[in-house]
Amino acid sequence: MNYGELGKTGIRVSRLCFGTLTMGPLQASLSIGEGAELIRMAVDLGVTFFDTAELYGTYPYLAEGLRGLEEQTVVASKSYAYEREDMARDLEKALRETGRGHIDIFLLHEQESALTLRGHRAALDYLLQARDKGLVRAVGISTHAVEAVEAATLLEEIDVIHPLLNYRGLGIKGTLEGMLAAVRDAYLAGKGIYAMKAFGGGNLLGQIDQAAAFIRQVPWVHSIAVGIKTPEELLMDLLLLSGEEVPEYLRTRVRGQKKRLLVEEWCSGCGRCLAACRTGALVLEGGRVRVQEERCLLCGYCSYFCPEFVIKIF
Ligand code: SF4
Ligand code: SF4
Repeated sequence: MNYGELGKTGIRVSRLCFGTLTMGPLQASLSIGEGAELIRMAVDLGVTFFDTAELYGTYPYLAEGLRGLEEQTVVASKSYAYEREDMARDLEKALRETGRGHIDIFLLHEQESALTLRGHRAALDYLLQARDKGLVRAVGISTHAVEAVEAATLLEEIDVIHPLLNYRGLGIKGTLEGMLAAVRDAYLAGKGIYAMKAFGGGNLLGQIDQAAAFIRQVPWVHSIAVGIKTPEELLMDLLLLSGEEVPEYLRTRVRGQKKRLLVEEWCSGCGRCLAACRTGALVLEGGRVRVQEERCLLCGYCSYFCPEFVIKIF
């Protein structure tokens, strides 16, 4: 495992960042014990960096899996809060539910542009004060949008950017070339960069060697977050990101675990899930939702916003 500093934050992270969305209630719904065991296996294999979010519901997995390991590990979380009070509540929840004395990195979740960053200014100011008090060590944004990377690069107070980046440009708002240029500029400005969706949320499993080769050679990425829900995925991702050969038995097992999005037939067509999908993968047709699979990153965010539990990722 390779390790490096995340920009100018002084925070040292592993090259693989363990994404916890996939193990939690929005996706595989592992038990806390199963999730914690997988997290400990990752630590044993050298992973020190873990990504979560308010939305993911995975703080209890991290609390259990990283108990006694707070000093050796780095946790990043995110919140959609706009206002101070909401960010204060979300940070307090992250601290309480992970059982940590601080959250290493706290991000504004899914920023779109300079405009949305301005809209979240009060929440960002709260995070900056929390950083001064040592409750967080670094602040930043996560985003699918080239424009947001460019806007965050111009803000001195932003330490970390978590952009969507994969070799097909799947899910990027803007172009792949535009994202690469924005990430390069952010990196050169000293921002810590950890990429997301390098394997398209599982959609690039069929071209995983190309996807891994691409993200490995981008020189402006300190760490790569990959969602993991099984030991086989963990082992395969470690091999792929270090450029080592993946045995065929491991590939076969992971292919057999490919995720799917299911829209149950009792969908009422209320349309609430559409706003949650930043890739425009959902469309209303004939009074119910249909997913355009070529656009879907299998993130599961839409299922969180469905009041009828119609959408499932499994
Ligand atoms: S349809 Fe749902 S799972 Fe797919 S990208 Fe949109 S929000 Fe994510
Ligand atoms: S939120 Fe749920 S019920 Fe409403 S359209 Fe979406 S899937 Fe259907």
